[in-house]
Amino acid sequence: MRKPFVAANWKMNKTAAEARELVSAMLPGLQSVTTVERVICPPATTVPAVSEILSGTGIGVGTQNMHWEENGAYTGELSPEMVKEFCEYVILGHSERRAYFAETDETVNKKLKAALAHDLIPIVCVGETLEENEAGKTDEVVIREIKEGLKDISKTDAVKIVIAYEPIWAIGTGKAATGDLANDVIARTIRVPLKEMFGEDVAGQIRVLYGGSVKSSNAAEFFNQPEIDGALVGGASLKADDFPKIIKAAEL
Ligand code: PEP
Repeated sequence: MRKPFVAANWKMNKTAAEARELVSAMLPGLQSVTTVERVICPPATTVPAVSEILSGTGIGVGTQNMHWEENGAYTGELSPEMVKEFCEYVILGHSERRAYFAETDETVNKKLKAALAHDLIPIVCVGETLEENEAGKTDEVVIREIKEGLKDISKTDAVKIVIAYEPIWAIGTGKAATGDLANDVIARTIRVPLKEMFGEDVAGQIRVLYGGSVKSSNAAEFFNQPEIDGALVGGASLKADDFPKIIKAAEL
């Protein structure tokens, strides 16, 4: 049985003062469900404030990106050690990073190896654009992202990875996929390559999330699917009244 997992991606929203206010408002709701692994990924400047409030609550903190190098001349980047100082999780390969900041399968793979080497739990995002979807290229794109992104990872490390299937046409658009559709794509383009790469047992232990316009009103539709273990939530995770309800919907 894979433990359900729900992560918030606040993207580039909230100052430290606003982040403190939001996480404090959500805290009772977040703490009321303990059977779900819960993670908040705020902007890097607000991570210390959020991690201080969440310390000892059982709710994890993550960053939205990370460099693979230990240190050096990489202006604007965060090293694994810097992330590890405050966080247990890191989002890698988000479609917005791939689209606007030249993230590739190769850089995702380097970051993934660095995250695992530092005992950070990586949340690796994959998913096709609207154009790729309409051209019938969903399988090709997602299978490639899995095979290249998770290349040369050991079975022992593979079980620690969380994968988020986020069809790009569903992110921030209000147009979520259906539960059935997301489940089918995950089965075909994520579980099958994971089985080929790591074997049935390991592939069956890896958590796979759905992401793309998840809110409390549609979350259960995804969580009821056999291949979906939770969600990566953007817009609705900034709403103090909605995000805890999404977590509640994932409860075992
Ligand atoms: C995301 O940022 O990963 C995401 C899924 O955003 P939204 O929930 O707003 O579509």
